[in-house]
Amino acid sequence: MKEWLSKFFDFETLLFGQTWIEVVWIALLALLFLAIVYTVNRIVAIGQKGHMEDYFTWVRCDTCGWTGEVSKFHKNCPNCGDTLNFR
Ligand SMILES: [Zn+2]
Repeated sequence: MKEWLSKFFDFETLLFGQTWIEVVWIALLALLFLAIVYTVNRIVAIGQKGHMEDYFTWVRCDTCGWTGEVSKFHKNCPNCGDTLNFR
């Protein structure tokens, strides 16, 4: 196993000495790596979206009719400066 590992990670072997089985393995590992990166990115994106929804909310200003996303801690309309009512 250790010999196989050192052969696998030997740079010269990777460049010039692959058998087709090793090429298939490298391709599969690359695909697996990309799948993991894609999945992690999706999870992080969903996590950040959930986090954003905790602090930002869609509101409609009763005074001027402005509609948009504001921080729940920012209680004034960005358009007219009037106090926003959160529902
Ligand atoms: Zn307004």
